[in-house]
Amino acid sequence: MTSDTQYIEVAVALPVYRTFTYFVPEPFRGFLAPGKRVLAPFGRRRVTGYVFGQSPRPEDKELKPILDVLDDRPLFPPAMVPFFKWIADYYKYPIGEVIKNALPGGLNVYDYALLTITEKGSTALRHGQPPPVAQKVLAPLAAGPCRLNSLIKKIDQKIPGTLLYQLEQSGWITRKWKLGGASTKARLERFVRLADSDLPLDHLSKPRQKILEILQTEKEMAVKVLKETVPTAAALIKPLESAGYLTIENKRVYRDPFGESIKPDTPPQLNAEQHQAVSRACDYLDKGYHPFLLNGVTGSGKTEVYMQVAAAALEKGRFVLVLVPEIALITQMERRFRARFGECVSVLHSGLSVGERYDQWTRILQGDATVAVGARSAIFAPFDNLGLIIVDEEHDSSYKQEGQLRYNARDLAVVRAKQNACLVILGSATPSMQTYYNVTTKKFTELTLTQRVEQRDLPEIRIVDLRLSRDARGIRRFIAPELQAAIKETLERGEQVLLFLNRRGYASFPVCGACGQPMRCKHCDISLTLHQRSNAYRCHYCGYSRAATSSCDICGSTKIKHLGLGTEKLEDLLTPLFSQARIARMDRDTTTRKGSILKLLKGLKDKTIDILVGTQMVAKGHDYPNITLVGIICADLSLSFPDFRAGERTFQLLAQVAGRAGRGDRSGRVFLQTYNPEHFCISAARNQDFKAFYQQELSFRQALGYPPFSRMIQLKISGKDPHKTEKHAQILGDHCRALKASHLPHYRSVEIMGPIEASLTRIAGRYRWQILLKGSDTGALHQFINQLTAHSHTAFTHRRVQVAIDVDPVFLM
Ligand SMILES: [Zn+2]
Ligand SMILES: [Zn+2]
Repeated sequence: MTSDTQYIEVAVALPVYRTFTYFVPEPFRGFLAPGKRVLAPFGRRRVTGYVFGQSPRPEDKELKPILDVLDDRPLFPPAMVPFFKWIADYYKYPIGEVIKNALPGGLNVYDYALLTITEKGSTALRHGQPPPVAQKVLAPLAAGPCRLNSLIKKIDQKIPGTLLYQLEQSGWITRKWKLGGASTKARLERFVRLADSDLPLDHLSKPRQKILEILQTEKEMAVKVLKETVPTAAALIKPLESAGYLTIENKRVYRDPFGESIKPDTPPQLNAEQHQAVSRACDYLDKGYHPFLLNGVTGSGKTEVYMQVAAAALEKGRFVLVLVPEIALITQMERRFRARFGECVSVLHSGLSVGERYDQWTRILQGDATVAVGARSAIFAPFDNLGLIIVDEEHDSSYKQEGQLRYNARDLAVVRAKQNACLVILGSATPSMQTYYNVTTKKFTELTLTQRVEQRDLPEIRIVDLRLSRDARGIRRFIAPELQAAIKETLERGEQVLLFLNRRGYASFPVCGACGQPMRCKHCDISLTLHQRSNAYRCHYCGYSRAATSSCDICGSTKIKHLGLGTEKLEDLLTPLFSQARIARMDRDTTTRKGSILKLLKGLKDKTIDILVGTQMVAKGHDYPNITLVGIICADLSLSFPDFRAGERTFQLLAQVAGRAGRGDRSGRVFLQTYNPEHFCISAARNQDFKAFYQQELSFRQALGYPPFSRMIQLKISGKDPHKTEKHAQILGDHCRALKASHLPHYRSVEIMGPIEASLTRIAGRYRWQILLKGSDTGALHQFINQLTAHSHTAFTHRRVQVAIDVDPVFLM
């Protein structure tokens, strides 16, 4: 963009799908750049818009001028404009909202209406002239101007636009549009530095002399740090400045999300396989787009491969983005990258405060941070010269964002790498079906690590058939005798045990002992879980909870049987069996507080925990060197989910958990308890045989035409009224069929399944229906949904029934 740019393309922060062209008035020319925000008129409102670039001169149209330029510097580099456009187009999401999702929070400027009562209005109110509805609105305004939203809250009822209009017309109130938001500001800190002077020091007080002495060696120092040595420093620096000894300056500082200090490390010697992986990837650096799958067994040293390729990219002056599936793992990855690359590493995830996120964003934007490690939203990190994107544990479903902008960060990593002409490495010990299929069809290059580092063995896995595991009274045991014996042995050797059960709470299936009815959530079609520690039944879908003393809804009996084993109960059952052991639990209930995961991991490292009980949180890539025994309490929990990926997820989870064993000097053992020992997912996990699993699963997928042999788009229809929701789903289904019928040869490949009631029929009081669109021709499928949303626009913007479009859905239930 140049200083005579007259027309610009702007994406407004509103739910509209296209961008708009605005006129640039003379004074703003030269101040504009892609990525800056402008204030622009839109209908009767003023909205924030994001500049995308120059627009061609439009045909004889009166264009509205922008009102202001809001930023001195762009918020994102021009390289991200095509990325945002791609996302909006592919995921069928309004372009301005895509950017809003991508930017750190706290930046959005918005409009709000400020209502003020006039003289005339006050007088009228005193004389009781306005009608009662109007008086209700005017009365609170007598106390002072008020935002429309707060006024609605105050009087606790809706205020119709027509009423406001009448009040305005009568001259009783005025309405003004104000700008709100922009709450995130850079943090400034005071720094002092020695002034250039020969002023004498001897007549100064001891503390003052001390300050100047420190500054002589340190040159510049934060007042905060200075106070550690000279506690009264804050009061002394002002007079010292006035006397000309030093200067005080407010400087921009970054809020530091890192806790401990980290010792630098040097790259270790790679084994032959690692070395080959690094050199093959590096061969393609700076040679355009190239995607890799780093397929390495658990404990094979994938992170070291990432770091060495990253070092090579940085050396070429290009930046590196590392995605990790969840916050707990970021800490681990971040520590290793920080030890190797130092201060240039930035971290992005939702656990940071708004201010911290803003700071990290700015550091990347300004080139101060050249490496970013983050969770899925870090895919939007504002790098303009990416050389490498890494997606660790690429199979993990946490990369899929549910709700709002439904994207998959793993897939976006590949898109961004293509747009930036750079490398992308997807890493996993249990690659997703999709990614491995891309290897077999030569879209991706496979790099393999088949050996654990330092010649460690993969753990030995034993299957325990739960069908045979009954004690003398015929009651099923939670822990088979052989596993119990192995736990005992392991503890006696001073080693640690990990027990995995993918269900939290105490009892996941509380049932009335009198009438046999399960305890159900009031808002969802799902059983409640008893959480004994917090003394309540809880719904894991909507958060509804009721007292643990509740009685049966149906018959009123207080005799509730607590069926269904959860991690809380498992922990309780272990205590009498291993009374000497220190037992801890890692699941969503024990890790809500900031830092609690780190504390548990530290406990494992420092050996203050002997047995760790946990849900899938423990399966994810953590490295516990002293764990030599892993017990999988029930391998079948996820197998029976009504989802075509149930087998894939089960295999991944089991192979990952098993991989936590024996990552130190001693070899590991795994006991896998199951009711389905013959199931191919279980046996493939037992043999750690990814290829066997893949071949079998692929033939199922092919037979049924499921991904990777097709693409899917799911329409998620939900509403509070069961009949309206069902009817709307039927209507939408009819629209789909009519559209297909009217363009038949073109849309022949598009399959319309449903509408059907969702497997979870009700969540948080909303009834749920689904339509699944499936097609082997991605282009036709996307054209179909575009045409559908355009033709049946009203069906997608219904007031009572919400229709969400989920492109490449991951959770079909
Ligand atoms: Zn009952
Ligand atoms: Zn619920």
